[in-house]
Amino acid sequence: MIKKIDHIAIVVENIDEEIKKYQEILGLSFSGTEVVADQKVKTALFDIGDLHIELLEPLGDDSPVSNFLTKRGGGIHHIAYEVDDIHEQLKILRADQVSILSEKPTRGRNDSLVVFLHPKAFSNVLIELVEKLK
Ligand code: ZN
Repeated sequence: MIKKIDHIAIVVENIDEEIKKYQEILGLSFSGTEVVADQKVKTALFDIGDLHIELLEPLGDDSPVSNFLTKRGGGIHHIAYEVDDIHEQLKILRADQVSILSEKPTRGRNDSLVVFLHPKAFSNVLIELVEKLK
């Protein structure tokens, strides 16, 4: 079951500059950075209400977000929904023929399991499912 929106992710070219802007201009509460090795990105997280804004900077040309940055110069990349059981959710999606970008969930930020759904399934919106493990 989908519980809520966990975060909206934005791809940026220079995460340190953007962190400053989000803090100093928008006044959002910064909760730290984390490198997610599985996704080859550096992330920065801001809390707003009970959801987050996640900034993503690609780490190298083979990062999954590197193409997005090159082609579009950054911008809104995906919406992440928190689910209570990612494996159960995948079963439902597969039964509905939704194409999933990876065979199995991978490790996400802050001890979570994540999986991405093919953007074609939802009007070109990339959707991430997140299950928090703690
Ligand atoms: Zn995300």
